Amino acid sequence: MKTTLFLSYVCVLQISLCHIKNYTGYKLYHVKPSVNQYEKLKHLNEEEGYDFWTQYHDRSIEILVAPFKQREFQSLLDKLGVEAELKVEDLYKHFVKVQMAEKKKQRSEPGMSPFDQYLDYQQMCNYTQSLQEKYPGIINVSSFGKSYEGRDLQVVRVTRCKNHCPVMLIEAGTHAREWIGPATALYIIHQLVENNTNNNLVNGLDWRIIFLLNPDGYEYSRNHDHVWRKTRSKQENGCFGVDGNRNYDIHWAEVGAVTTKPCSSTYPGHEPFSENETRALKNYVLGLKGKAKFYLSLHSYGNYILLPWGYTSEKPDDIELLKDLAEIVGDSFSKNNTYFIGSPPELLYAAGGSSQDYMKAVLDIKYSFTMELTKTEWGFFIPSTHILSIMPEVYIAISEFAKGMLNTYPN
Ligand SMILES: [Zn+2]
Repeated sequence: MKTTLFLSYVCVLQISLCHIKNYTGYKLYHVKPSVNQYEKLKHLNEEEGYDFWTQYHDRSIEILVAPFKQREFQSLLDKLGVEAELKVEDLYKHFVKVQMAEKKKQRSEPGMSPFDQYLDYQQMCNYTQSLQEKYPGIINVSSFGKSYEGRDLQVVRVTRCKNHCPVMLIEAGTHAREWIGPATALYIIHQLVENNTNNNLVNGLDWRIIFLLNPDGYEYSRNHDHVWRKTRSKQENGCFGVDGNRNYDIHWAEVGAVTTKPCSSTYPGHEPFSENETRALKNYVLGLKGKAKFYLSLHSYGNYILLPWGYTSEKPDDIELLKDLAEIVGDSFSKNNTYFIGSPPELLYAAGGSSQDYMKAVLDIKYSFTMELTKTEWGFFIPSTHILSIMPEVYIAISEFAKGMLNTYPN
């Protein structure tokens, strides 16, 4: 089960046998530019050798720099007078450290659950299938399309609703390397189906949970390049993949992700809905029109609850309703795990083509949010043995969203 990070550990010993991209010498910097300084740094995200791991917020951003760019990066920081500190000295050693943390915990706590590990795509499908066999009256798993590489895109419906209940749509795994998102989606399914104390949330709501929207990218991230973010469709110039959260037909490529470089990690595609995965989600949600009241896109990392709109600083007319609900959700987190609430342009940076904006503006899902989950010292690569300590708090937050929907749309 623990193939991915185990493979990277094996690579220490047997690099020639290893097909995983080697991140030896890659450094993660915590950079602290002013707004003006950031304007002079932001183009780096489109250049080879740079990868922005967080978005710019409160004079802070985390940037991964390849060995061949480190001198250039350092001299740019010096020239601009930007403060920066090294967060990860060597990404390869960081992966080994993650692996060691997992091994240590396993030794001390034998016995595994699906949440003691990051499942691969097939294991996720097997897990949801096994729940369906065990609880046939409450959970139904179906496919709503195919990924570029032909994997089934699966949606898990959980409900005991007899009449017309509001649809709660949750989607995870658009960005391949954000492994905690799909793990969270599976944990939500587990709670709804197997924990009786959640019965009211299942009786009064119609949950549709897409636990992994980008299975091709996720598998590529596990087996070939841990840092991979996009889909895996073939693009021009020998490049692969599109940023799924820049690919929706809503102010597409107008702001934030305007690059025409297909190798860029935020490439929005050659046209809106160029990707099987985003197109399939749109078509699925079109079938829920009028019923879907809530949409949540799970991402990592950063501790943000993001409100519409992502493409402009203007606000939707009903923003106060969304903000009130987000504040209740934010308050459910403990004091040392604060979530920031606001729109992407307020907190981070504007971006067109996002799923959150499309769901609200075009598909009329009134309550449309994005969450950036779980900022830790580990970046994207939280040891799997930490999953279970993170999940309960996140689940309480999700159930606050659900209670809000029950109050707003009582049966
Ligand atoms: Zn993301």
